[in-house]
Amino acid sequence: MSTETPRILVVEDEESFVDALAIGLKREGFEVDVAMDGIEAMSIFESVKPDLILLDVMLPKLSGIDVCRRIRLHSNVPIIMVTAKSTELDTVVGLEVGADDYVSKPYRLRELVARIRAVIRRKVADEGANGEKTKVLKTGEVELNLDTYTVIVKGNSVKLPLKEFELLETLLLNAGKVVTRDMLIDTVWGGDYVGDTKTLDVHIKRLRNKIEVNPAVPELITTVRGVGYKFEVKRD
Ligand code: CA
Repeated sequence: MSTETPRILVVEDEESFVDALAIGLKREGFEVDVAMDGIEAMSIFESVKPDLILLDVMLPKLSGIDVCRRIRLHSNVPIIMVTAKSTELDTVVGLEVGADDYVSKPYRLRELVARIRAVIRRKVADEGANGEKTKVLKTGEVELNLDTYTVIVKGNSVKLPLKEFELLETLLLNAGKVVTRDMLIDTVWGGDYVGDTKTLDVHIKRLRNKIEVNPAVPELITTVRGVGYKFEVKRD
């Protein structure tokens, strides 16, 4: 994969939108191919082998979701899915089609380019120099490396004790979904869970203190009362 001039396949059926986007991306140093529907996306994907696909969800002939699923059967190419509005985003994220990131319209080109670069960089890092897979869980601006036991939040390295690390790992593995208290306790403490039922909450509180901008108003790890906790998948 070339990181010098990455080749982007833009799949987008809105003509008014696609020209400006292609020009903008070229100006940012990308090579750009355009497909205007899902079938065309599949054939261009096969012929040009892009470094990343920017894939609109609502497309003629074959939806972006179907395109993503088909490509994932045999390729690990980075895919960023584009939804028409943020309400659609939840639905698409929930389908777990295997995209690497999601953006919703309208977005700013600068933000999109930052995401494209981040996804490509991450994919290169995942594949590693020797082809060995580094295990990295990443959601939004939180990145957890399972080989080195390091956590990066908004680009800053954060130190976490083992239990907090494992809590975060469990939540990230289920990002966007509620993880019940029982599941968290079973996964992180197993039979070793001692003390009162507050132990879990105390650890969540410590974790929030380290990764939340404002721990009193958590935006990453939210409480689902009476059920458990959820790692939020960020919307735009
Ligand atoms: Ca569309």
